[in-house]
Amino acid sequence: MKLAFFGADGKVGRALVPLLERSGHSVRGVEIGDPVDVAGLDACVDFTTPDAAPSNVRAALEQGVSCVVGTTGWDPQPFDELARERGLRLFVAPNFSIGAVLMMRFAAQAAAYLPRAEIIELHSEAKKDAPSGTAAATAKLIGGDPAIHSVRLPGLVAHQEVIFGAEGQLLTIRHDTTARESFADGVLLALSKLTELPAGLTIGLDALL
Ligand code: NAP
Repeated sequence: MKLAFFGADGKVGRALVPLLERSGHSVRGVEIGDPVDVAGLDACVDFTTPDAAPSNVRAALEQGVSCVVGTTGWDPQPFDELARERGLRLFVAPNFSIGAVLMMRFAAQAAAYLPRAEIIELHSEAKKDAPSGTAAATAKLIGGDPAIHSVRLPGLVAHQEVIFGAEGQLLTIRHDTTARESFADGVLLALSKLTELPAGLTIGLDALL
């Protein structure tokens, strides 16, 4: 596919662009201040900031290009209508790591039997939003409004624990992302299934697995 990658020089972009190219995609990096001229491309990928993602997505959809977005901390819902009107796809996932999606699934299963839970999410100090999109999505999935604790420290990449507590027992479900390359499989999966999705907004890798 012919792709534009918003945020190609960011931490995720630097890890993913070579892997997308190695998988046969042709990728044009779009950085802050570059003209957003994406007409004619097959899809745009966005890993930028919560401030930048909405205008990038709007520009891409208005130019007739579907989007795969990993940026967290913004609300994609208002773009559902624009994408549907134009017969385009807007796929947004709070976490593109397949292991993390499984962690969320297993947490949802556990919550059916162990209703008391808290979430600890740990990320690099550069992460701008808190709580993380994955933690917020996990909380929604398991229900019961669990507390979310956010840790931002150097040395961390992206980690999450869901701790279930009951009389005399604890269950901890943990996922660790040790390198940003872990997000590539999910992005490649989303790109390969993009045209099979209904027009409009789809949220979460779970919908593709
Ligand atoms: P980062 O290192 O700060 O990279 C963001 C990049 O976007 C920077 O190069 C930044 O440029 C660039 N940028 C900012 N505004 C832009 C614009 N208008 N157009 C094009 N590029 C723009 O952050 P990161 O760690 O790569 O993470 C990026 C986003 O992805 C964050 O929201 C993070 O939470 C999210 N994320 C999601 C997943 C997932 O699986 N869904 C995984 C990891 C991260 P400057 O440096 O010049 O400002």
